[in-house]
Parts: sequence; structure tokens; C-alpha cells
Amino acid sequence: MTPPARDGPIPPGEWLGLLGGGQLGRMFCMAAQSLGYRVAVLDPGADSPAGSVADRHIHADYLAPAGLARLAALARAATTEFENVPAEALAFLGRSARVTPAAPSVAIAQDRIREKTFLRDHGFGVVPFAVLATEADAVRADAALLPGIVKSARMGYDGKGQIRVGRHADVAAAFAAMGRVPCVLERFVDLACEVSVIVARNASGETATWPVAENRHRNGILDVSIAPARVDARLAEEARTTATRVAAALDYRGVLCVEMFVTRQRELLVNELAPRPHNSGHYTIDACVTSQFEQQARVLAGLPMGDTRQHEPAVMVNLLGDVWFEDGAAAPREPDWLAVLKHPQAKLHLYGKAEARRGRKMGHVTCLAPSLDEALRVAAAIKRALGIPGADELA
Ligand code: AMP
Repeated sequence: MTPPARDGPIPPGEWLGLLGGGQLGRMFCMAAQSLGYRVAVLDPGADSPAGSVADRHIHADYLAPAGLARLAALARAATTEFENVPAEALAFLGRSARVTPAAPSVAIAQDRIREKTFLRDHGFGVVPFAVLATEADAVRADAALLPGIVKSARMGYDGKGQIRVGRHADVAAAFAAMGRVPCVLERFVDLACEVSVIVARNASGETATWPVAENRHRNGILDVSIAPARVDARLAEEARTTATRVAAALDYRGVLCVEMFVTRQRELLVNELAPRPHNSGHYTIDACVTSQFEQQARVLAGLPMGDTRQHEPAVMVNLLGDVWFEDGAAAPREPDWLAVLKHPQAKLHLYGKAEARRGRKMGHVTCLAPSLDEALRVAAAIKRALGIPGADELA
């Protein structure tokens, strides 16, 4: 077996490995390929968004030793595109290859209890919470955390695995409805807005952050990201510093998203961490010198980090599968992409997913303009044209 290549640059032309076949992996592949790398994707899906653009698709389960061994034999370095990748797979690859992020960082971000405890113990502001490990914890839950939200510790994303609770008796009922798996109870906070910062950190501990994104959700799924966020300069600076400090506290290597709440009292609280590029950082592809995906490849390959400067205000609109269904229609149809492309400053990204389903992330559009107001107007026009709700809230 080739000796581990943990340090030093891996030059373009070599292979990089990726665990996961979704859209984040697809955009990583494209960025790495444009730097001249060849990418091998390990993913169990037959025609996954990343697998279909990868130079090689290792069609195997994440824990199948033969698939992992093939990836390890090919690539001197590997990364991941989703946080629920089994830690054992990262550990297996880590025996022979450089793996970013490392398994311990991923393990913390995979589990809300570990994540929130880690953040609180390192002095970061978090929403007041309690761990619900047992029925007794749920029955004894602190009334000061109500009204609140019960969130499953693992596998929750896009608002899934969450139940709102108002009264004390609701907590035990929610815990039971979750299947009595470990959960957290969080106090419901009155939010002024939600923001996120993408941060990259390399092996030498150098970090780079992108401008803060302001995130709007619909039905628990990211709907729009506005960058730069419309928060004052002090808060934006605090958000970027917080993200940098979180990455340092984790001794993180790779690209990390730090999602934060801004309360009505202008307090910044860390909500959750994603140990990978994030949907709220998609604007960096078109609006920044270096995208989050190119940076992921640079850190993985041990190259110098790229400039994160944003050259134009941007509004990113997510395209969910709902766009494929006309009002009440049972069967999907292809949306009118010309209605998007007729805006010369709109950049369309489709992920090549074979089947459109409601709520499924199918693509995104980034609207660029010399002013944020103008970018918001274009985003609103595109929302209207595609029948995506919420256009009036933008412009
Ligand atoms: P999460 O999966 O934790 O990111 O939660 C999904 C969304 O639910 C967040 O983006 C917020 O809009 C909302 N949310 C989650 N937790 C809270 C909270 N403690 N207080 C208010 N809103 C919340």
C-alpha cells in the first residue's frame, strides 16, 4: 500500500476521492476537475448527481470494504459531502489517505447532543437546551425551555426530526413520537434572522471565511440565501469571527458551515454545524473569487487557499421538485428554464436528478447584480415565473 500522504500538496492530475453522490458532491467534482484533478465517487446510488460527473463512480455501500479499498487504492486524499457518512468509513480511508474533514469533527457535527455540548463548553452562544436521553429526562424537562422544539440528536436535516412543544406534557409525547431516541429540547427563540458563515481551514490552521449569508427557510428547507447578509458590520464581523473560532476549536480541516441565529436582541447564537460545503454557500460559485467547492478541493489537496472575496451581491434561490409540478398536477413536467435564462445575470444550476419530487433539492439559481436590491428584484421575478412562493417577500 502507498504510504499515507498526509502533508504536502497533491498536484492536479492526481485522483481525489469523495464519499457521497449528492449535489454537493457533484459541485465538488466539477470544481476539482476544473483544477485538473480526477475524482472518484463512492456512492451506493445508481445514477447519483456526483456519480454521473465523476471520473469514476465506485458503486458501493459506504461501509463495503471492497468499495472503500478501491477508493483508497486510487485516491491519496478523500473528502465527504454529507455529515451522516459513517465515521467508520472515514476512519478506514484515514489509514492510507488524507481525509478532510477528519472523523472526530464529523462525529461531533453528526450528533446534536455532542455538537451543542461542544459549542457550549467552548464558550459559544447556543440556544438554551437540555438533553433528552430517557423518558425520565422528558418528564422532568425544565419548564424554562418552553415553548420549545424537540429535535432528534441524529439524522435530522431540513427541519426533519423536529416537533414543536408548547406545554410540559408535550415534551414526553414528542420524545415518544420520535421513537425514544436521544433528543435535545431547545427553547423556541424569537429570531430576527438566520445567517451562516462558510469557513475553510487548512492543515496549517490558516482559515478563510466568506461573506455572511442571510438565510430564509420555507417549510424547514432553505429557500433563499442573500449575500452579503443585511446585518450591521459589527454583527457580520462577529459571525465570521465565531465561525473561525468554531473551526479552530474543532481543529477542523476542510470546509465547514456554521449556521447561526440572530435574536431580536441582536444576540448571535450558533444553531448547527455542517462539516462540508452548504446550500447557503452556493452563491460563492458565481459571486466569489473562489467557491466553497474549489476551496474544499484546495484544502484536500494541500494547495494554497483561494481568495474568498465576493465580487457582486448575490441572491440564491433554491429550486425544489415542487417547481416541476404545476398547481395540483400529479405528474411532473420540465419547468420553463427560458424564463430564468432570459435574465442575463441569473446563473442556473441543475443537479441532474432523474426524478423530481416535492421538497427535493433539484437545483438553484444565483442572481447577481451591482446592488443587492437589484439582485433581489431578479430573484423575485424568477420566483414568480417558476411559481415559487414568497416572491413578494423579496422585492
Ligand atoms: P435546524 O434543523 O435546527 O436548523 O432547524 C430548522 C429551522 O427551524 C431553523 O432554520 C429555524 O428556522 C427553525 N428553528 C430551529 N430551532 C429553533 C429555535 N430554537 N427557535 C426558533 N426557531 C428555530
